[in-house]
Amino acid sequence: MNQLYCEMGICPEVKAFGDGILKNLKERFDAIDEMAEYNQLKVIHAMQTCRVSAECFQTSSGYGYNDIGRDTLEEVYASVFHTESALVRPQITCGTHALAVALAGNLRPGDELLSVSGKPYDTLEEVIGIRPSCGSLAEYGVTYAQVDLLPDGSFDFEGIQKAIGPKTKMVEIQRSKGYQTRPTLSVSQIGEAIAFVKSVKPDIICMVDNCYGEFVEAIEPTDVGADLMAGSLIKNPGGGLAPIGGYIVGKKEYVEQAAYRLTTPGLGREVGASLGVMQSFYQGFFLAPVVTAAALKGAIFAANVYEALGYKVVPNGTEDRHDIIQAVEFGIPEGVIAFCKGIQAAAPVDSYVTPEPWAMPGYDSDVIMAAGAFVQGSSIELSADGPIKPPYAVYFQGGLTWPHAKLGILMSLQKLYEQGIVKL
Ligand SMILES: *Cc1c(COP(=O)(O)O)cnc(C)c1O
Repeated sequence: MNQLYCEMGICPEVKAFGDGILKNLKERFDAIDEMAEYNQLKVIHAMQTCRVSAECFQTSSGYGYNDIGRDTLEEVYASVFHTESALVRPQITCGTHALAVALAGNLRPGDELLSVSGKPYDTLEEVIGIRPSCGSLAEYGVTYAQVDLLPDGSFDFEGIQKAIGPKTKMVEIQRSKGYQTRPTLSVSQIGEAIAFVKSVKPDIICMVDNCYGEFVEAIEPTDVGADLMAGSLIKNPGGGLAPIGGYIVGKKEYVEQAAYRLTTPGLGREVGASLGVMQSFYQGFFLAPVVTAAALKGAIFAANVYEALGYKVVPNGTEDRHDIIQAVEFGIPEGVIAFCKGIQAAAPVDSYVTPEPWAMPGYDSDVIMAAGAFVQGSSIELSADGPIKPPYAVYFQGGLTWPHAKLGILMSLQKLYEQGIVKL
């Protein structure tokens, strides 16, 4: 084993350092495996209850009427997430699109959307119109209000109470920290916030952005009162196999409204051919609990490696996890660059290319991105990126298998070690 690591560029010092860290993670990893087992059973149970058959993998074209594979998969999602209804489609192009459709389908002119977990994910700023944008909710007369999380990352219940008014139609909660430094919200915290919102105004639609959160815990936001929940299939629930797609689950009425926005009024969920992607959607969802577990192990391993070397890591090496994202603050640009070069060099695809910081649309500094993925932009696959600005933090996530996540992190350490940025 060590010889093969050596041939792949991991020197004995780096390997030994990694092994030393791993010795102390056995109990954590056992707990993650148990979570994967529970969620795996949940998915298999749903597939059995919904009578998934080989027929479901057939393709459909054109209008896609009576697509049994698509309709059964939606039953499977509804069953796993314990909701009345689900929309799981290749026509939902990404996570942002799933969220946008859920919002636009359920909000009408004069309504207000209230975010109670602070500023939403960057791409939603233009959907909502926080940054003026063509076709935003703001252009359709939907107003927006926001209550930030408290400095300790918890919900500001007093602020929420004050912000809810007669126009408040929907509340949005983002589970994952995204690319912010606040802690990720646990499902039980989200449940408390939803209960509170409902106690103030029972008919508010509570929607959760569940990106990066699926299968990290034994329960999901829809188990604690979320009326709607959305996410991307090139993150956790696609299991690395879905080549595109997004999902929206929740109360029937609200999912229907989203479907009328996704396609058209009148047609709703009845149309939408599956174009041959159904097998990958099913198989990816089947694998998702163990893929998520692999990504979690990678995140925890990285947190412990870099914490031991004296860097600030978010979340830290010991805290509970509610999503799969890990941030490491290097304090210097060279650290971010070396880390990303390591992740790239460990990839199964495009390992021979060298990532470099570059100007990117939508960013106010150069950004470096590392990914060698089978599916473009798939962030359930091992990937890392960092803006080249203080505090020079790198965000990384994913890993379809634990051995790959481990190799990626060892390779990142190797690059930092070779550059003399860390001493072992
Ligand atoms: C990734 C992500 C999104 C957007 O998903 P895309 O597929 O990139 O459009 C939204 N919210 C959160 C928290 C995310 O992590």
